[in-house]
Amino acid sequence: MTWVEKLAIVVGMVLFMECFAWATHRYVMHGWGWGWHKSHHEEHEGWFEKNDLYAIVFAIVPIVLFVVGLWYPALWWAALGITVYGGIYAFVHDMLVHQRGGFRWVPKQGYFKRLLQAHRLHHAVEGKDGTVSHGFLFARKPAVLKAQLRANADAQRRSARPARTPNTSPADQRG
Ligand SMILES: [Zn+2]
Ligand SMILES: [Zn+2]
Repeated sequence: MTWVEKLAIVVGMVLFMECFAWATHRYVMHGWGWGWHKSHHEEHEGWFEKNDLYAIVFAIVPIVLFVVGLWYPALWWAALGITVYGGIYAFVHDMLVHQRGGFRWVPKQGYFKRLLQAHRLHHAVEGKDGTVSHGFLFARKPAVLKAQLRANADAQRRSARPARTPNTSPADQRG
């Protein structure tokens, strides 16, 4: 393999992983996998949260690929791409946004500020439903996300209100 091919695999995997992470966060972690992810949306004490189990489970894939990649080089480079994504994710999500490990840097402008704001808006909703911005490296403008949050909250309010039809209103049921 040429170095251009190797680089293409690594960059391609990083982009693929962002899509994969978005879909997993949106549909699994905020879906049937909420049991583990819930801990990340709540205040907690101590270093670890149940949500970290996801990182452990997801780490199994590149480890296996690194081993199989000893025979199939393309897979070894794919595993490296996943690992690079994991590193970027750990930096942006855990360190920059959640200040894990005592990291304190509040970007005043540019790309990192946008990522920080976008993920804070993800945490603006307590609970599983109505959240916005499930990606990590691609984030929409904060104004767009805030509008989405309002729309989600309205939709939730509408669905929480019991539907009224003339035949089932309390007045008709009396007597
Ligand atoms: Zn979440
Ligand atoms: Zn977070």
